[in-house]
This record gives sequence, structure tokens and C-alpha cells, in this order.
Amino acid sequence: MRRVVLDTGFGVERFMAERARGGRLHYLGIAARVPAVDDPELRALWPLDVPGFHRILLDDGRVVLDLLVGALDAVLPQIDARVDAFHIAGTAPATLARALAKLAVQGATLRAQTPDEALVWALTAAGFVCKTVNGTPDVGAVYQSRKPQPAVPPQPERRAIVIGAGLAGSAAAQRLCANGWQVTLIERHAQPAQEASGNLAGIFMPLLSKDDNIPTRLSRAAYLFALREWRRLGGVGTAFDGADCGVLQLARDGGHAKVQRDVVAAWDYPPEYVRWLDAAAAAARIGVPTPHGGWLFEQGGWARPSSLCEAMLAACGDRLRRVFATEALVLQRVDGAAQAAGDAQTCGGGQARGEWRVLGGDGVLIAQAPTVVLASGASAVRIEQAAELPLSALRGQVTHLAVGGDGVSGAPPQLPLVVCREAYVTPPFNGIVCAGATYDNDDDPALRAASQLENLTRLAEIIPGDEVAALAATAPLAGRVGFRCAAPDRLPLAGALPDYPSAGRLERLRDVPRHPGLHCLLGYASRGLIWAPLMAELLVSQLENTPPPLETALVDALDPGRFLLKQRRRVQ
Ligand SMILES: Cc1cc2nc3c(=O)[nH]c(=O)nc-3n(C[C@H](O)[C@H](O)[C@H](O)COP(=O)(O)OP(=O)(O)OC[C@H]3O[C@@H](n4cnc5c(N)ncnc54)[C@H](O)[C@@H]3O)c2cc1C
Repeated sequence: MRRVVLDTGFGVERFMAERARGGRLHYLGIAARVPAVDDPELRALWPLDVPGFHRILLDDGRVVLDLLVGALDAVLPQIDARVDAFHIAGTAPATLARALAKLAVQGATLRAQTPDEALVWALTAAGFVCKTVNGTPDVGAVYQSRKPQPAVPPQPERRAIVIGAGLAGSAAAQRLCANGWQVTLIERHAQPAQEASGNLAGIFMPLLSKDDNIPTRLSRAAYLFALREWRRLGGVGTAFDGADCGVLQLARDGGHAKVQRDVVAAWDYPPEYVRWLDAAAAAARIGVPTPHGGWLFEQGGWARPSSLCEAMLAACGDRLRRVFATEALVLQRVDGAAQAAGDAQTCGGGQARGEWRVLGGDGVLIAQAPTVVLASGASAVRIEQAAELPLSALRGQVTHLAVGGDGVSGAPPQLPLVVCREAYVTPPFNGIVCAGATYDNDDDPALRAASQLENLTRLAEIIPGDEVAALAATAPLAGRVGFRCAAPDRLPLAGALPDYPSAGRLERLRDVPRHPGLHCLLGYASRGLIWAPLMAELLVSQLENTPPPLETALVDALDPGRFLLKQRRRVQ
């Protein structure tokens, strides 16, 4: 069991003292800004000073530190946790007492530093039995609710089947294995990352917006978590192919340049997160003139998804069983009673719990487990239980350009960082520059000259000069086609799969009926690199009933039941 501690005024020393007690710890530390730390180990994984929830995994995951950055009264309602111990630091308003009581387990302890009378009174009214701590101005309390408390969720049986070995499934396998799960990974190809995750390079960077909307907040959390997780894995360019060389997102025109400048000024981002470069500074970075400047994401870059998948799967160790070159076609739920009877016949015993059987061609049983995670990208809708998810397959073609042109028939730019606008271009790696990618509404798997021309025309708009312009006529047709799995709102689906046929009247997400034990990690669209680690972490928190790595509002925005709820609300 993990001890869950909530600190309303995050203190590094307090956290370190809790960590030093040993055991499994989940520490939720609320802070208005990300505080500075001296400890070199923490510094290596410490988040940039931007708002939101930042999860930091320490001591091989035995210690989870969630830095919850924002105003106390805004952050508290966004926490979903069962807290064993509270620390109330500084001047805490009495109004927080009820919010704390909502999070407390029966018997939870609380220590408030020099609280005022109003806070002690409010804590008492909320169910905390308070007394002063001997010889100090502090108050200690124990939560003793008279109302019946929700049952403690049972420990999950840590066996899962993950279908699909792209970025989504590989990250899920890694986080599940790291949390002690036995994972069977089913993949229809002989190798991981042969479909959407098969590109030579994908770029990673966050989204920004004027109003810090939900996609912006989600992408910020995901990007920063991915950077931390890749550091833990051994580093971009070390543990897997890629480079955190920076991404320069050029403005489309003068108006967009103004928006970019205003966003950076309004949100006061640290320069390591994003910096506005004017036209001259941007041109100096890429070595050619550019008219409007752009955002520089210094810690962004590119990575080869297949290499990252291999690194994540290698980290799974022997808890992972790979069943490759095998297609999962049918999921069958075996209910607890049938399961128990079957077990009793075959092995002389069994518990009354349900399991999923995953069947392949000719109804052959591939694997069976209480939990299944669908991470099969654009093909997920072929499985009956996921058929009604509103997912589409968006064709994309990337163009591969060999470096070392003769300067007459054209040559790709050899940039020190990724540059993007409507399209992107990567630095060369193993003699290849990637330029892409198209967005097409058809299912043609073959390379197309028209798509290549589109990529090269956009590239010539980003990087002016005769050599790049000449490529449109001279570059041989080369590249790769893939299909992005995209939801209508372009956000991922991470969580329990809705049971469409059983749905009646729905008011809230929690009314949406679910297939027990069936989860999905889908809809990563054009940002699979950054979504994969955080969505896998979210999935594990849901399976383990531990605090999620995101605000409640953001978890809801990712809920696979959101489309069904919306649909029912429209017709109700
Ligand atoms: C052209 C293009 C450019 C892109 N550029 C970027 C970029 O710059 N940055 C970025 O972050 N992202 C980019 N993306 C998106 C990124 O590649 C995807 O978001 C990501 O790869 C999705 O990973 P996934 O695991 O969900 O899907 P996939 O990689 O498609 O994995 C699904 C896996 O499931 C397997 N599978 C499916 N059905 C079954 C079944 N029934 N049984 C067994 N196995 C099954 C498939 O074989 C596949 O291996 C791009 C995508 C495309 C197509």
C-alpha cells in the first residue's frame, strides 16, 4: 500500500523527511509556483516553472511526487485522492476544511502549522478531531467521519493484455510492468511500431494558446512528463534515437507572429519552455532569412518512435510476454461464475471474478486476463466493443530526402533543430531529412507523388532558396505513409471503454456504463510521442486506484465516455 500525503504548502524538506521514512509514498505537494531545489537528483527531474500537475517518479517509482502548481483553492477541487496524512502549512483559509475532508480516509491524520481559530473550528465541523500538539502552536487532528465511508477499492489482480505495440501499447506495457503487472502484449506484426509509430522521426513540442485551453494544458503536462520519463529511461539520443535539439515553430504571417509574441508575454513562460524569437533571431538559428520569427521550444526535438518503443519494451523486463505476428480479433468476457466453474474443473479451484479472453483467427485463444488495454490505433474500431468510438484514420505521408545533393538538382536543408510551420523538417539523421506530413482523408497506403509535392512545396515556403525549391522537381518519390488515429476533438481517449449498447439516460461521465476491465489508449492523432507516457501513467493510476497525474477536469477531457455522453445529451 502507498501512503498518500497531501501538503498544502509544498516543502522540500517535509517531502524529503517523508521519503526518508521508506516504503511506498505518494506525495501531493501544492505550490503557487514551482519552488527551486538544490538536491541534484531532484533537479535532474524537476519541472519547469509552469502551472499544472507535474508527476515526478523517484526511487524506481516507489516514491511518486505530484507537484500541483496553482492557487490552493483552484487546485484542491481538482485532486482525486484518498489521503492518509495532511500537512497544512502557512496561512490556510478555513474554507479548505471541507475540501480536505472529502479527500481524507477514515483515521487520516492532519497537522496544521499555527492555525487560526477559524481553521480549527472549520476542521472540527468537517469531521477532524483536533487538539494542540504539546509544546508547539501547531494543531494535530484525526479524521473521524460519522458518515459511512466508501469501501476501500480492492487491490487489482495485476495481469493485463495490451493489444498493439505502437507508442501507446509500448508505454502502457512499460508503466504496467514497472508497477508489478504481468503483461501479455499482442501485436499483429512481427516487430513493434510498424504502423503509425513506424515513422523515421516524429517531433515533440507542446501546444500554446491565448486562453490556456484544455488541449494546451494537456499537451504541457504530457510534454513535460515525457521529457522527465525519457530522462529516466536514459535520455533522448542515448536510450533511443532522437535529439532534444529544439523546435522552432515559425509564425504563418504577421498576425500570427503577434499572437505568438502576445502568448509568450501573457503567460510569462520560462525561456527553457518557450521563447519568442523575432525574424532576425529566428533566421540566425536556421541560417536562412525568415520573415516573421517564431516560438522556440528549446527542449523540444525529434525522436524515432520505433526506437523509443524498443527502449520502453526493453525496460519491461521479464514481466512482459510478447505475442507478436498475431492478430487479436475478438474479445469475450467470461463472467466470474463461469470462470470459477471452469477453473474448478481444470485446476481444482477458482475465484468468482470476470476475465477477458482474446481470440485470434479461427477463434483460437491467444491470452486471457482480467484487464485488457486496447492500444491498437486506427484499427481499434474493428474490435466489436470499440466499434462505436468516433475514431477516424487520417492518412499522412512523410517525405524522406537524402542529404548530399549536388547543389544543382536540389538538396534538403541540414538544420541544427526541427523547424515547422504548416509542415515540419527535421535535422538529418543517418543521411535522411524528414519533411512532412500531409493530412488526407483517404485510405491509400501507397506513396503518392501529389503528397510529396505538397510536402516539398511547404518545405520551400519554410526554407527559402533554390536548392530546396528544386527538390519539388528532382527528389525521387521516397517516404512513408501512416494512418493517425484521431477523435473528433483531437484529444486522446484514455480510460475505461464505454459500453454503448447498455447506455440509458446519461447526465454525467460517471453514469456512462463501462465494459468491466476493458480500457483503451487511443486517438493519439499527431502527438503520439508526448501523449504515450502520460496516458500510460493515467491508465495505471485508474487501474491501481491511485491519484491520477492530472487535474480532474483534464482526466474528464480524456475520458473515452465523453462522446457517448455528448451524443445522449443531444438526444435526451
Ligand atoms: C504521417 C504521420 C506523421 C506523424 N508525425 C508525428 C510527429 O511529428 N510527432 C508525434 O508525436 N506524432 C506524430 N504522428 C503520430 C504518431 O505517429 C501517432 O500518434 C502514434 O504513432 C500512435 O501510436 P499508437 O500506438 O496509438 O498507434 P500505432 O503505432 O498505429 O500502434 C497500433 C498497433 O496496434 C497493432 N494492432 C492493431 N490492431 C491489432 C490487432 N487487432 N491485433 C494485434 N495488433 C493490432 C498495429 O499493428 C500497431 O502496431 C504522426 C503520424 C503520422 C501517420
